[in-house]
Amino acid sequence: MNTLLAIAYGFALLWGALWGSFLNVVVYRVPAGLSVVHPRSRCPQCLAPITWWQNIPILSYALLGGRCASCKNPISIRYPVVEGVAAALSLAVLAPWLPVLLSDTVEPWRVLVCVLAEQAFVFALLAIALIDADTFTVPDVLSLPLPLLGLGLALLCGPVRGVEWKDAGAAALVAGGGLFAVQWGYAALTGREGLGTGDVKLLAGIGAFLGLRSLPAVLLLGALQGLAFALAYTALSRDAVSSRGLSSVRHLAVPFGPFLALAALQWLLLHRLADKALAAWFGG
Ligand SMILES: [Zn+2]
Repeated sequence: MNTLLAIAYGFALLWGALWGSFLNVVVYRVPAGLSVVHPRSRCPQCLAPITWWQNIPILSYALLGGRCASCKNPISIRYPVVEGVAAALSLAVLAPWLPVLLSDTVEPWRVLVCVLAEQAFVFALLAIALIDADTFTVPDVLSLPLPLLGLGLALLCGPVRGVEWKDAGAAALVAGGGLFAVQWGYAALTGREGLGTGDVKLLAGIGAFLGLRSLPAVLLLGALQGLAFALAYTALSRDAVSSRGLSSVRHLAVPFGPFLALAALQWLLLHRLADKALAAWFGG
């Protein structure tokens, strides 16, 4: 049984790393409006095509010493980091489903649907977070499919995951509608846009995957972590601020998408552990 687990974990890591490699392409090309399948990957600096052995997740970066094989310019460390994070997320999504699979209480195909859909969700969150951090935009092509995927998953596996289709649908509507109202109110009061419409679509997708119960926690965790980041960033760049004047602080813009995505990941991966800890705390 241990061998079986090791094979499953190894496969999940490899699967995630391969998706991470593809996400690097998505993050680079989608904001530029380029196709993610054509042309083949090239070095952004010398445009030399990247051969298959230079394209193995994480490993190629180490083998090449972090430099392009033709022009020897450094390759961003972000590529292997994204591949590593995607591999870890893939494993983290799979791990809690293996006991369900082995317990034989749920049809194996439903477990597979849950694992693949949750992995698609976390990979989309990772790509959205990176693109929003780079460009202050959540691309529709990544955010709009999420509510549909979440609803589809709830229809197929609602009882298994504990997020039924009514819950998923209501959460998508509440999240999308509620955040849209806040956005509209903020814009009406201040005359400037505080939240992007991309955040609204993203939160609707998060609601559809994680259900109504997740929304207060996701919003709170996302806002607190975003605020902590903004404060730390302001404190660290105080010298830069004093030279530019105080107005740069008031207009410091931090994209909300990466923090919403982070909070959604934390809820997906940790809320069952938190529930158990709370139950043990109050039960014991
Ligand atoms: Zn090159």
